[in-house]
Amino acid sequence: MAKIAVIGLGNMGGPMAGNLVKAGHAVSGFDLAPAMVEAARARGVAIAESAADAVRDAEIVVTMLPSGKHVVAATEGLFAAAPKGTLFIDSSTIDVASARTFHEAGRAAGHETLDAPVSGGVGGAEGATLTFMCGGTPEAFATAQPVLAQMGKKIVHCGDAGAGQAAKICNNMILGISMIGVCEAFVLGEKLGLSHQALYDVASTSSGQCWSLTSYCPVPGPLPASPANRGYAPGFAAALMLKDLNLSQEAAGQAGASTALGAAAAELYAAFADEGNAGKDFSGIIEWIRTRAG
Ligand code: NAD
Repeated sequence: MAKIAVIGLGNMGGPMAGNLVKAGHAVSGFDLAPAMVEAARARGVAIAESAADAVRDAEIVVTMLPSGKHVVAATEGLFAAAPKGTLFIDSSTIDVASARTFHEAGRAAGHETLDAPVSGGVGGAEGATLTFMCGGTPEAFATAQPVLAQMGKKIVHCGDAGAGQAAKICNNMILGISMIGVCEAFVLGEKLGLSHQALYDVASTSSGQCWSLTSYCPVPGPLPASPANRGYAPGFAAALMLKDLNLSQEAAGQAGASTALGAAAAELYAAFADEGNAGKDFSGIIEWIRTRAG
């Protein structure tokens, strides 16, 4: 059992903190939003008066915040408030540059640090089946691993500081591009008189096979559990897909990588989100592509 503080008890952080409580840890927490605080209290999290109070005697601190600027701003005070040698795990999805700032500031303050963004969404957070992609020293990873395993089922050490965030945005750039590719193929198939099921049966066992098709099919029918069968309620909202694609493009610009399809996917998701679809599941972009096809 460890003393663990979770800062950011939102859609992801709340259930993750709940799983740490279930695993027998003493979990303290803090969030700025009263509704999230109450939901976390109901999961057995000891709510602190402030973020600094929550980390005061923590051995491990998990942050699950919206973006890089939140993480850098919040951890500045937390690094000063926590006992020296605390392991800070940032599981938010943030830009690589802010992740590196988090590591440098944490290490300068005498702490261990790990960037450990997740994939698996709210369902994975609730069911403790998240994938964690980790960046940091082997020592920080070794300490974090058993705790992360209580919130997830696959824990990967991707490399040093920032490598977890790099893996996350590269993966999600593949996802955004491949979802658009699958949607375009279904819309073209419709125009050519091909049924959804026929295209699915062929492509799912041919070279077009990919996760966007066989685990998250964007048309109703072939996969009853996919969001297409419930009016594109998320799932994984288009706004979050856009956030991750924008992070990939920011990183590509800084690193000098050519990502023409990533850039196109970011533009298409920006237009889709701007037209009132930010809260829809990201696979709902098929409806918008169909409309554009005229
Ligand atoms: P969320 O908005 O539900 O939760 C974020 C929480 O942080 C909010 O409750 C907010 O009040 C709190 N917060 C902001 N600043 C704070 C501060 N200074 N101190 C304390 N609390 C503060 O977002 P979420 O869906 O839980 O996502 C969290 C992170 O996980 C994001 O970076 C997101 O991109 C990433 N992520 C989300 C999903 C998903 O499906 N929701 C999947 C993978 C990764």
